[in-house]
This record gives sequence, C-alpha cells and structure tokens, in this order.
Amino acid sequence: MDNYQQLVDRIAQSANLQKEEIERRVEAKRAKLSGLVSKEGAAQIVAAELGINFDKERLKISEVLHGMRKINTLGKVIEISPVRSFNKNGREGKVVNLLVGDESSNTKVVLWDTNHISLIENGKIKEGSVIEISNASIRNGEIHLSSFSDIKISKEKIENVVTKRVYSEKKLKDARPGDVIKTRSVIVHTFEPRYFEVCPQCGKKAVDEECKNHGKIKPIKRALLNITLDDGTETIRSVLFGEQINKLGLDDKDIFSPEEVPKLKEKILGEEKLFAGRMVNNTLYNTIELNIEQVEEINPDSLIQQLESKA
Ligand SMILES: [Zn+2]
Repeated sequence: MDNYQQLVDRIAQSANLQKEEIERRVEAKRAKLSGLVSKEGAAQIVAAELGINFDKERLKISEVLHGMRKINTLGKVIEISPVRSFNKNGREGKVVNLLVGDESSNTKVVLWDTNHISLIENGKIKEGSVIEISNASIRNGEIHLSSFSDIKISKEKIENVVTKRVYSEKKLKDARPGDVIKTRSVIVHTFEPRYFEVCPQCGKKAVDEECKNHGKIKPIKRALLNITLDDGTETIRSVLFGEQINKLGLDDKDIFSPEEVPKLKEKILGEEKLFAGRMVNNTLYNTIELNIEQVEEINPDSLIQQLESKA
C-alpha cells in the first residue's frame, strides 16, 4: 500500500467515513485547487476540514509524509552516525543522524538539540533502543527534532523492523526532495566525469593529500558522473559514484583514461535501467537531483509479471 492509501485509510478511520468518500473529497479538493496540490497534500487539507488532527496521533513511519508538522512516532534505532559539530554564521552546534525503523518502513531522524544529543553521547539511546518521538517536524522527507521536540526511551517492543533502505516507486514529476525513490528511466544525457580524492582510511574527501581526520595521506582517486534521466514524465539531473558507475557498463578504464572518456556517451546514452536513490536539493543550481545509490538491470520476468497483474 502506498503512502497515499495509508493516509486515506487513517483519515477514514478517524472520521468514521468510507475510504471511497475520503477519496472523493480529495479529488474534489484537488479539482478545486486546479491540481496544484499533490494527492497527499489534498488529503491533509481534507483531514483538517474534518477536524482530524494528526498532532496528537502516533504515526507509523510509512505514514509520515512530506509537509506534515508536529508528528509523533515510535521506532527502533537501526543506526547512529557520529555526532558532528558545526559552526554556522558564528553559531556553534551539534547534529546527529539516526536511522529509525518500525515494521512499516524506516527513515532518517535528525537531532539538533544538545539535550537530545547528550542522550546519544552518554549511551542512553543506542542502536537497538526503541524511542518515542513527539512534536517533530518533517524536512526533506526526514524527521527533524528541535528543542521543542521530545525524544525518550520507550519500553514498547517492535518486531520485524524494516532495516533495508526503502525505495518507493515514483514518477519523477511527483518526486520531491527527501524522497527515496526507485525509477525506471532512460539515460538521455551524460556529462563529463569529474574527479576527486579521498582518504584511503576513512573515505572522506581529501584536499592537497590531507585528510581532516588522518592528516597527510596518499589519497585514492574517485570519479563522479552526472547523467540526465527521463522516465517519460520528467527529466532529472542525477549523480552517481564508483561502483554504480561500473553498473552502467563502464569500467574504471572507461572512466579514468582521458582517451576513453569521449566514448562514454555512446556507451550509455539510451540505456534504460532501474535507478534508486534519494532526491536532494542542489542549492548551487536551485534544482532537485537524484543521488543514485543503486543501479539495477530491468528484470524482464518481473516486468512481465507487473504488466500481467495490471491487465
Ligand atoms: Zn581519513
């Protein structure tokens, strides 16, 4: 079931109405707004008009949607990334990212408040902890906690947590920043590969043979490739690295030797594959891009199954 269907179910339940009735109201709302809002957006307006307030309800992670404010949810910590310090416009702060899941899905949770972060630092919240999050907001499809939000350990148990990255199949025209999507698309344009250097120990970007963590190092050369994808609804600039570039049928020789680079285009233009990754804002170009994390061949068997199930 997709996000929208879940949302409709939830509204129908809370309002004590039939699902069909909710869907009818959503379509009417969209028509009235000349299709300017997404189905999810229209469903939220309908919910508000019915007096349904998700602020107090606890949502499953798969029900957490773009544009929601003040959400409450429960999940198990799958992964904690290192606490980072930053200094932005003279303001010092810390931030930490968690991957949190329940039996419906998983998502990134970002903590900004030092009190919340201290729960990680002193080991009160660790991988495997079940946490209750309240009053959080959604930014770029991720759950963000400010000092107005709350996070605490819960005694509840969650079984069968979804730990694998969850990609939703979405049309490119419907994809928004933060969405983690899978798209069947054709490569319609390719740019020159670009090169950078990383530390062999931590994999972080190295500048002038120096790593921030490891000092003077002998860096490894890496490539990134920008391509434009088209799924028939929209074209979108995308970026991929290393192994994923190889999955396009380009080996390291193709990428790293200057005389092979001009042949890249003819090798991959027009190729159709499944691309999975995260939609991100490119602040430099003021566009959204797909950060490709997985490239897969289109499996003809599953495709036939898909078509048959639709017929
Ligand atoms: Zn390093």
